[in-house]
Amino acid sequence: MPLPLRLFNTLTRGNEPFEPLNDDRVGLYTCGPTVYQYAHIGNLRTYIFEDLLARTLRFFGYQVKQVMNVTDVGHLTDDADQGEDKMLKGAREQRKSVWEIAEFYKKAFFKDLEALNISMPDIICMATEHIQDMIDLILRIEKAGFTYRAGGNVYFDVAKSSDYGKLSGQMREDLKAGARIVVDVNKRNPHDFVLWFTRSKFEHQSMLWDSPWGRGYPGWHIECSAMSMKYLGEQFDIHCGGIDHVAVHHTNEIAQSEAATGKKPWVKYWLHGEFLVLAREKMAKSSGNFLTLSTLVDRGYDPLDYRYFCLGAHYRSPLQFSFEALDAARSGRLNLVERVLRLRQDHPQLKTTDSAALAGETVPSPEEITGKAADLMRSFRNDLAEDLNVPKALAWFWELIKEEGVPPEQKFGALVEMDRVLGLGFASVEPEELDPQLKEEVEALIEQREQARRRRDYGRADEIRDQLRRKGVVLEDTPSGPRWKKEKL
Ligand code: AMP
Ligand code: ZN
Repeated sequence: MPLPLRLFNTLTRGNEPFEPLNDDRVGLYTCGPTVYQYAHIGNLRTYIFEDLLARTLRFFGYQVKQVMNVTDVGHLTDDADQGEDKMLKGAREQRKSVWEIAEFYKKAFFKDLEALNISMPDIICMATEHIQDMIDLILRIEKAGFTYRAGGNVYFDVAKSSDYGKLSGQMREDLKAGARIVVDVNKRNPHDFVLWFTRSKFEHQSMLWDSPWGRGYPGWHIECSAMSMKYLGEQFDIHCGGIDHVAVHHTNEIAQSEAATGKKPWVKYWLHGEFLVLAREKMAKSSGNFLTLSTLVDRGYDPLDYRYFCLGAHYRSPLQFSFEALDAARSGRLNLVERVLRLRQDHPQLKTTDSAALAGETVPSPEEITGKAADLMRSFRNDLAEDLNVPKALAWFWELIKEEGVPPEQKFGALVEMDRVLGLGFASVEPEELDPQLKEEVEALIEQREQARRRRDYGRADEIRDQLRRKGVVLEDTPSGPRWKKEKL
């Protein structure tokens, strides 16, 4: 039996006991990136929050199926259908085809996730590979009488949806009053949105598909409805995203999905992460004013310093970014790593946490953790159970590290368990990670080796591998690039 927890549901505006639709199985959909630019660290905060949610659910004993989309078509610079297609804009600025742009940034995105110890979603789906699913869904919405055609496009008619706006708590009448000037003259209501475009406002639209309404491309909102239902069913448990998605994207997703299926509610729990803010202004990809994970790495930070920084704030509180705050997070994380290394050095039986140790050969399994360590684990769990209070859980983790009365195996076992949620990977760090000079040298050599391989100079690449080996460093080539570790002596 999974353990109980409560989550704040945007739909009902309250903390609710979490009860999945199907026993202990949880369907979780997290809106993914639009791949026309690098993710900024604000986006990454949201993905870290969603990772903490998935990890917590697993830690509590649920079987999670997480689906994430990748938007590689049809997301305009304005969420409400105005503006320019983000993919086209990126392609023009970078003189590449939209397909090349998407492929490049998709790879960069998954590299960021890996560097941040974000667990891979179980299913990653590309919008361009699901066009037929979107067409089928639009046909259902059309059949149910919720659409109209105007100016070559198919629109969703919000007037037909009696509870449009329920997610943000604004009903249609209020929305109408506060609406901006209507730019798209085809719309009957400013909140109507496009399900299928045939009349692109932009030249050189190269991503086009045949459809019952003519050759064109889907609107952005329909993508998430179509793909989430394909992989998670017509009703599922949790849908997440950043807070900016409440008023438009998720509101529209709900309206069209419930119009198509006639089933309410489409999604039981809606969870939204608050923004990372930069010097009091919103960080936005389209404004060109944003920091990426590489910016932080270039300044000498480890990606996990950023993860640690994010753990310090509750996901529903805005988080102000500054390099001073990131410095503090870095010292906190290094302090933690050092303490764990010391614990392992003093107790060589705890030397490694790779599979054998985790299987319980040298480190106690969760059931074998008793006494003070078990008490602290319980407090850790209780705080996570109250709408994912990660900052408080992190404080219990620190209590445990500092607690002198706990036997080392117990302490280590409990820390490893807690790290299943926190994802700091501290228990498997090797001492050289605390040696920035070695790290710098090794990374420079790896870069030279990558360059040699790109030139197909495999002789030179092998020489560099040997040179690294003489330093006691072993290289492993993975799909996301080379990884290294210090050979155990
Ligand atoms: P996008 O690629 O624009 O769809 O954004 C990807 C995810 O990042 C979405 O869930 C957004 O809600 C979220 N997001 C955008 N800006 C920020 C920010 N400054 N802080 C936190 N999350 C953000
Ligand atoms: Zn979405």
